[in-house]
Amino acid sequence: MNQSTCEPDFFTKHVGGPAAQVQLKGAKMGLFTGKTGLVMGVANDRSIAWAMSESLFAEGAELAFTHLPSPSSERRVSRLVEAQNPKLVVPCDVQKDEDLERVFKAVEQTYGKLDFLIHSIAFAPPDELKKPYLQTSRAGWHLAMDISAYSLVACSRYATPLMPHGGTIVTVSYFGGEKVMPGYNLMGVCKAALEHSVRYLAWDLGREKNIRVNAISAGPMRTLSSAGVPGFDEMREHAAEKACLNRNVDFKELGNTALYLLSDLSGGMTGEVLHVDCGYSIVGL
Ligand code: NAP
Repeated sequence: MNQSTCEPDFFTKHVGGPAAQVQLKGAKMGLFTGKTGLVMGVANDRSIAWAMSESLFAEGAELAFTHLPSPSSERRVSRLVEAQNPKLVVPCDVQKDEDLERVFKAVEQTYGKLDFLIHSIAFAPPDELKKPYLQTSRAGWHLAMDISAYSLVACSRYATPLMPHGGTIVTVSYFGGEKVMPGYNLMGVCKAALEHSVRYLAWDLGREKNIRVNAISAGPMRTLSSAGVPGFDEMREHAAEKACLNRNVDFKELGNTALYLLSDLSGGMTGEVLHVDCGYSIVGL
């Protein structure tokens, strides 16, 4: 996709301000018209993956969704995504290879191909985060790493055959994978593994497959997952105070960054971890 396929009011809708005056010549289609994506990690309307879905849907993307295999998750997610009229809303526990196999087979049968994948999934047992990192248990480590880091590798592997003409994959990380954030503990180590997986996957998938893999390192957001991080509200307040923009990022800004990373607007980028944190991570104080 190139810029000539952009809707003329793309910047007006997504950016605003002076850039809203930019008018792209050409077609009337959305940036993602004709593109199909799988979104993994919508729990509710406060999920980062949901913000991404809303931005993508507004640009014409056809989206499929997964949810954890429980009746309550199914009800919650199905009800939420209904407005986007998805052809596929399927259960998936990323710890189970048989679930991944079934999900990607269903995507193939329903759409025949995949243009992009959103991986917005993480979990660590809350008790593991409450204790000092030194006390991390072997079982807790394995569980958190499996769901929060290995799952990107597995999902990318299953997605690859569905992207014969190239594609894009985006995952979501946090600055606690680069620096010590007391309380983030084991999850910080999972994010470090996730971010480096992004680089190795970008290498493996870039050469012959033309599949790009990038991460968004998001500023702290109030979501179901972040509720399990001890001291999260203080982290959020501190981040807003210190950030260059003197505030925290909002959901729409994360959604719009996903638009950029998943489209050809970022065609020359792969293996990157893009900080969308109002400039928090560049300040040394
Ligand atoms: P969220 O809404 O709770 O999303 C996390 C998702 O992971 C949920 O949909 C959850 O499903 C799913 N999940 C957990 N275990 C799973 C498994 N075994 N199989 C399949 N799915 C599983 O929270 P979020 O904040 O948007 O998190 C999305 C991503 O952003 C995570 O990687 C998180 O670390 C990252 N992130 C968050 C922040 C923040 O401040 N919130 C900042 C930077 C990065 P259920 O809810 O149904 O269990």
